[in-house]
Amino acid sequence: MNDGIRLHLNESPFPPPDFIIEEVKKYLHLGNRYQHPSLLERLRELMAEYNRVEPKNIYPTPGGDGALRAVFYNLIQTGDKVVINNPSYSMYKVYASVRGLKLTRVNLIENDNWWKMNFEKFLDEAKNARLVIIDDPNNPTGSPMLKAEEDKVRALAESINGFILIDEAYYEFSGYTVAKLINKYPNLLIVRTLSKAFSLASYRVGYLIGNEEVIKNLMKGATPFDISLPGYIAGITALENPSYVRKIVEEITKNREYLLNGLRKLGLKVYNSLTNFVFVKDERDLLSPLLNKGVAIRKPIIGYYRISVGTKEQVDALLKYLGEII
Ligand code: PMP
Repeated sequence: MNDGIRLHLNESPFPPPDFIIEEVKKYLHLGNRYQHPSLLERLRELMAEYNRVEPKNIYPTPGGDGALRAVFYNLIQTGDKVVINNPSYSMYKVYASVRGLKLTRVNLIENDNWWKMNFEKFLDEAKNARLVIIDDPNNPTGSPMLKAEEDKVRALAESINGFILIDEAYYEFSGYTVAKLINKYPNLLIVRTLSKAFSLASYRVGYLIGNEEVIKNLMKGATPFDISLPGYIAGITALENPSYVRKIVEEITKNREYLLNGLRKLGLKVYNSLTNFVFVKDERDLLSPLLNKGVAIRKPIIGYYRISVGTKEQVDALLKYLGEII
């Protein structure tokens, strides 16, 4: 599959490491069988260890989206109010619409080279909501939101009669998490994924971290078959040896700053980022011809583009094409 330079889905540009691929290969001949249920427990244990919580706080899911669906489909009801930031991860509004929820979106505020939450307004809206979701860092801006500040988490957790969901899909890049607060705030939930920094997007491994009671309820309806056998093997092998992620994060962070500076040198307004993508203001739509050069980037809202950070070679190619266009 050669589909050009893919910088539109916030994927890792690096393939899974060989030790994971080799391990997955060993199990491919078992594809006719259902997965052994012990795999679910092993994965839970490792996810718990990685986050210094207990396995009873972990609900493994097919990707981060599986964790989001678990919340949307099991923990809230049609007609409930949900509050999100605008912009934020596109699937929140899709799930809210499919589930017939009342969606309120609170606009982020542009602040020099970052975007920030309108926390007062958000908190006010949270008061009669059943679910609030904050992707932290935010997709598509790459900016920190609550940045795991406990006073803000507490204010939200205590004012809402429902759940506060922090989507930490980019945790490995940002380095901050609210995981240590889950036992303190029983309505706090966290989404995580191995799709980004772990380089395992298509294996579909993610999880929800939460209070024992909530997780226990979700686990009652869980089958060990939602995650595929290759997904289990890849996820387990990765979490048994998670140190490879550090190199990926280092490389991506270096390439991100290189991309950011390169775009700024071309005169574009680019925001700082704590993730594996950058957010670019482009009111004149200068970036759209990139598609003709085989470079896929994403336009989440009119006037802005989101570009995933690729390899050094991919960043160089993108900057070269842009230099010719602009
Ligand atoms: N949350 C956020 C903020 C994301 O950006 C994404 C993926 N782009 C997801 C969740 C879903 O992750 P996954 O691919 O593991 O389903």
